[in-house]
Amino acid sequence: MSFSQMSIRQLQQALRDGKTSSVALTQACLERIAATDEQINAFVTVCGDEALAAAAEADRQIAAGQGGPLTGIPIAVKDIFNTAGVRTSCGSRILENYIAPYDATAFARLREQGAILLGKLNMDEFAMGSSNENSANGPVRNPWDLERVPGGSSGGSAAALASGQALATLGTDTGGSIRQPASFCGVVGVKPTYGRVSRYGVIAYASSLDQVGPLARCVEDAALMLGAVAGYDPADSTSVDCPVPDYLASLEAGVKGKKIGLPREYFIAGLDPAVKQAVEAAIEIYRNLGAEIVEVSLPHTDYAVACYYLIATAEASSNLARYDGVRFGVRHQGEGGLVQMYEQSRAAGFGDEVKRRIMLGTYALSSGYYDAYYLKAQKVRTLIRDDFLKAFEQVDLLLTPVSPTAAFKLGEKTADPLQMYLSDIFTIPVNLAGTCALSLPCGQDSELPIGLQLIGKPFDEATILQAARAFEAETEWHKKTPNI
Ligand code: GLN
Repeated sequence: MSFSQMSIRQLQQALRDGKTSSVALTQACLERIAATDEQINAFVTVCGDEALAAAAEADRQIAAGQGGPLTGIPIAVKDIFNTAGVRTSCGSRILENYIAPYDATAFARLREQGAILLGKLNMDEFAMGSSNENSANGPVRNPWDLERVPGGSSGGSAAALASGQALATLGTDTGGSIRQPASFCGVVGVKPTYGRVSRYGVIAYASSLDQVGPLARCVEDAALMLGAVAGYDPADSTSVDCPVPDYLASLEAGVKGKKIGLPREYFIAGLDPAVKQAVEAAIEIYRNLGAEIVEVSLPHTDYAVACYYLIATAEASSNLARYDGVRFGVRHQGEGGLVQMYEQSRAAGFGDEVKRRIMLGTYALSSGYYDAYYLKAQKVRTLIRDDFLKAFEQVDLLLTPVSPTAAFKLGEKTADPLQMYLSDIFTIPVNLAGTCALSLPCGQDSELPIGLQLIGKPFDEATILQAARAFEAETEWHKKTPNI
């Protein structure tokens, strides 16, 4: 078996058995980046020398019988995670030379467990987007078809995995930004329950929705990575102090006797026939594996996208106020005084989509409109959450498509923001409800990957990981790789 087909656990064993070394794995990833990234554009920063030095140290630890399950494994993180000493630009001109003095907790945990940082991954500016076309670093291209988008906003995190540049990555998901790119690039992506993973040191977009999670090449790797980053962090007041189960130990539990709900509102007109077919085939597989399939209803689904674009933009307008050329961000100073300096810095530093959202959000929060928009959206959000909680009284998990279509063409939706926003129609409700979900490969539409979404009860990532693993064990979709 070649190293590129082995899980992290198998690679770890190979490292312990002396069959390969961390330096060799890291070198292989760096070579892959050098060979493919001119086309893919997944990396905004590559830390080659530092990675090789860390890998040599990992090899010494392994030789001494030390280290943990991630020691010597080369990974990369979205450029939204603060990494001490390495630039964190968040896809924006305004942070183009920002270097954080500390590590984000999620990344720090990976580093403490021995993972090797290859570099930082391209993304939509401030994680606002579904195609990675809103990046100051230029778009990422989908390794399956260079004319198509990789999804967003964690497009670099998904594309790097699909093209074999890294063995696992971290992303963030506010409305679908882990799951939708994972689906477009044919990899596994987990959006954990709100509060499951610390967001300390992660640049905030919409704080009541943002969540950190792993992207990986198989379910086992995703389970391992989630276990490595999950858990309470006193530095993040929204992280929840509840025990993190051993996701790997229970991974093979299967789905026999499990009740899987199909929300009828997710199987709608507008769903691409190829996606529908792939998801229906997946349902059959689950039936054959002994799961009970029932229809459920999430009646407020229709309002989710509108509700999300009020809440997310309102929170963004507040979170992004700090980028003013004084507290944070590149300063532009032309004519005029302080106010002009703020204006010039923000005008030059932010891209169009970010400006659009700041304006939308500021409007929704402004006096006279607050009740009609923001407050109303909060109430609708509660209805959406209640829909999920009610459904979970009947079933153990939900099964849906990730996105209505496979990866679309670059430029196809940039002229019409609404069309772009609808790409997340099946992922956004999960963030509003605050629960967990994952995306895993379940088919192809003429060579383009299609993703299956499994949604779990709050803090029950274990059940959706088990169900994902059961599906993966029956199918070959996760083994397919693009010819790049
Ligand atoms: N595409 C959605 C947006 O633009 C979701 C982004 C995300 O999850 N960060 O807001």
